[in-house]
Amino acid sequence: MAFESLTNRLSKALKNITGKGKLTEANMNEMLREVRMSLLEADVNYRVVKDFIEHVKIKAMGVEVMSSLNPGQMVVKIVHDEIVELLGTQEQGLNYKTAGITTVMMVGLQGTGKTTAAAKIANVIRKKQSRKPLLVACDLIRPAAVEQLKTLGASIDVEVFSLGIETPALTTAKKALEYAQEQGYDTVIFDTAGRLHIDEELMQELADIKAAVHPDDILLTVDAMTGQDIVNVAQSFHDQLAVTGLVLTKLDGDARGGGVLSVRAITQVPVKFVGLGEKIDDLDIFYPERMADRILGMGDIMTLVEQAQDKMDMEVSQKSAKRMMSGQFTLEDMLEQFRQLKKMGSLGGMMKLIPGMSQMAGKIDEAKTDKQMKMFEAIILSMTKEERQNPDILKASRKNRIAAGSGTKVSDINQLINRYEKTKVAMKQMGAMANGGKMPNMKG
Ligand code: GDP
Repeated sequence: MAFESLTNRLSKALKNITGKGKLTEANMNEMLREVRMSLLEADVNYRVVKDFIEHVKIKAMGVEVMSSLNPGQMVVKIVHDEIVELLGTQEQGLNYKTAGITTVMMVGLQGTGKTTAAAKIANVIRKKQSRKPLLVACDLIRPAAVEQLKTLGASIDVEVFSLGIETPALTTAKKALEYAQEQGYDTVIFDTAGRLHIDEELMQELADIKAAVHPDDILLTVDAMTGQDIVNVAQSFHDQLAVTGLVLTKLDGDARGGGVLSVRAITQVPVKFVGLGEKIDDLDIFYPERMADRILGMGDIMTLVEQAQDKMDMEVSQKSAKRMMSGQFTLEDMLEQFRQLKKMGSLGGMMKLIPGMSQMAGKIDEAKTDKQMKMFEAIILSMTKEERQNPDILKASRKNRIAAGSGTKVSDINQLINRYEKTKVAMKQMGAMANGGKMPNMKG
């Protein structure tokens, strides 16, 4: 993975300062120096580094006034937040049109992974966002780019539009749009020509295609294996075409990574996707927060632990877990569970953090789960204390009253009770297993 040595150095510098109970000017300066060196060594652009250190310094000066966390941890948080800031704060999806065909133009130098990224994006939006994409082969410069796109398209069940390498790219682009309209495609992704270096002819061709297809997104592929030069290349593309998103490719390699870190900061173009390997599934939507964790060596799993520790009242949870596993599970416990889950963020989001579960996370209909949890919460809140502790007393008249009070139907209440009964049984089984010694660490 890229950024490895950056991660090692940064986490060492940060560990050092976390160990210090008190922040002094001396240990703060030492930490800042280390962070600065780590970034420069990783090939991050010097201007970016300068701003970065400046921001951390200013924020860190205010640390003492904040009373939570220890000062060292606070500084780590400041560095972390600054990296998130550097990477772009929020994830950014494609700029889909609300009506009509969304057009996406891929641009970038030859070999950066443009053709591969075009297919990967088509694949991801088809599978995860139920889009109907058409790929268009407009890269007539690199030998075999058209064939490559066709092969990739076939492997992911996405049609590739091509008029062969004799037809000018601009004509192909225009015809592709007409074709997409006729065939009911909702997203058209144009793979355009790259060169080894930026030249005028290339930029003119791209500008012409841009004028013809009015892209909703112009995505520039930038290769993590390129060093600092990448910043200038990206800036030129941006100046001439007004790029709307970056695709950072080859982050799976052992690149120092500083170049790609600088591109967003200097161009202010958001990163939308990251390429993590040669295979078609090796593409991720870009999450700045997670990337920052990774760069700082915190690891996603650490985030999960932190969230759990921060936000859950551990004592309460342990106590109720014990009671629940002995079979005394009430609707009040269930309400508490819903609330804990809500505090920890979405279920799907949490699952993405757990190794091996991220595939499943995509299958959860978050909006639906969320709505259902809210409804269950409203129902429980409309119950009396007695009803929550002993749901057996819930007969028709009580259910009618609760339904009216919570704005739900009796069938919703039955659904909740059903879910409650199942959870209760499951809890009891877990308790039995723990007591039987099969899961010793569940005890206590
Ligand atoms: P283009 O000239 O920009 O269209 O580049 P290609 O899409 O043909 O990619 C160039 C090479 O980089 C190919 O061998 C790809 O398999 C490889 N490649 C593309 N993206 C990635 C990536 O994220 N990780 C790795 N390891 N290789 C990649």
